[in-house]
Amino acid sequence: MTTVIRARRAVVGDRERACAVTLRDGRIVAVDDYDAPLPTGADEVVLAGDEALLPGLVDTHVHINDPGRTEWEGFASATRAAAAGGVTTVIDMPLNSIPSTIDVAALDVKRATATGQTTVDVGFWGGAVPGNLADLRPLWDAGVYGFKCFLAYSGLDEYPPLNREQMVAAMREIASFDGLLIVHAEDGPTLDAQPPAAGRRYADFLQSRPPVAESRAIAQVIDGARETGCRVHILHLSDAGSLPLLAEAKAAGVRITAETCPHYLSLFSEEILDGSTHFKCCPPIREAGNREALWRGLADGTIDCVVSDHSPCTPELKKFTSGDFGEAWGGISSLQLGLPIVWSEARRRGHTLVDVVRWMGRNTRDLVGLADRGEIAVGNSADLCVFAPDDAFVVFPERLHHRNAVTPYAERALAGVVRQTWLSGAPLTVTLDAAQDPAPRGRLLTRAPAPEGTHELA
Ligand SMILES: [Zn+2]
Repeated sequence: MTTVIRARRAVVGDRERACAVTLRDGRIVAVDDYDAPLPTGADEVVLAGDEALLPGLVDTHVHINDPGRTEWEGFASATRAAAAGGVTTVIDMPLNSIPSTIDVAALDVKRATATGQTTVDVGFWGGAVPGNLADLRPLWDAGVYGFKCFLAYSGLDEYPPLNREQMVAAMREIASFDGLLIVHAEDGPTLDAQPPAAGRRYADFLQSRPPVAESRAIAQVIDGARETGCRVHILHLSDAGSLPLLAEAKAAGVRITAETCPHYLSLFSEEILDGSTHFKCCPPIREAGNREALWRGLADGTIDCVVSDHSPCTPELKKFTSGDFGEAWGGISSLQLGLPIVWSEARRRGHTLVDVVRWMGRNTRDLVGLADRGEIAVGNSADLCVFAPDDAFVVFPERLHHRNAVTPYAERALAGVVRQTWLSGAPLTVTLDAAQDPAPRGRLLTRAPAPEGTHELA
């Protein structure tokens, strides 16, 4: 079965062009001029004039929480949200599920749970916690894409942070097999020295997690990476004041990358009402000026990736009744909305769809070494997103596919509508009634041991 998609606009490599993309056996087999002849027997899909063809996005920071906290989120609902948002590959975080993915047995449980449930492709991160140094190599060999650690309390007793010595030991071990350490970079001792978050005032919550907690942690990560040669990645950067540290480290050859999230690029603390715990996440959403500086960090390449940090919970855990920022669970769910949120803000600052795809597709796939996606190119998996950049919509929480209709974006107008998502050469159908939709056909991804940067489908 061969399909040709003709698009007046498509993001191909580093530019936007008109083209005809030929798909066969789940792969992209040709990228030709728009009016290239149709191969005999091929199906033809002609996109509307206001639609742009993008590669399916790769979101490397998603908390699916399944098994164990499936009432917060599950493989079925999260991957449906991804599909509705143009995301065709997600990498699942090792915590919030029970068990945490800190050894091979737990990874096996995750895989067994996910099997047959995923609408898009799913891979897994492992975890680095105190005492599991000997599990890192086996997890790597079993196919995780790297290891997540915290340097401050994670919010869960079962997933403790590493202290400085433990972090360096993990880096040394991970460097021995050229793996990747991804770090929640807030410094625990710095947070412990602040008055703890309590009450309804957003300003008090912000003060409980100051920028210096991020910059100190990032400095430690840089020192450790320099000392051990370990490849490291800073998760969900919020503090723009840390950008010079990152830029200097990169310039000095430290193997470090960084990501930020749609909420840090779109929301800002001055607009957050007291008691509005929808907006609680860690590190916190900071001032509007900080947001602009993060955009500059993206523009100059200091920040490599934009990922959702989709981190759902039940409405009860958000403590909407008390509005207490100390008690509410931290986390924002935006897997389905990441592309329009980022595009709405990016276009106002003169960025293009090529930029957005670089941050949300190519650089994220490079982070995890998934060489066959994140870009419209011959040989890649035929994962695509049909996006109408000049169309617009209003966010209604009940129309989102993640499990709990909790979002700080309710009733916001966003630019850019995901009209269709293709996985492995065919369009996905995601409606509000999951029971009516075709069986999920996402695949579970396993990092291949060799050659470097490739993977197998499991
Ligand atoms: Zn996270």
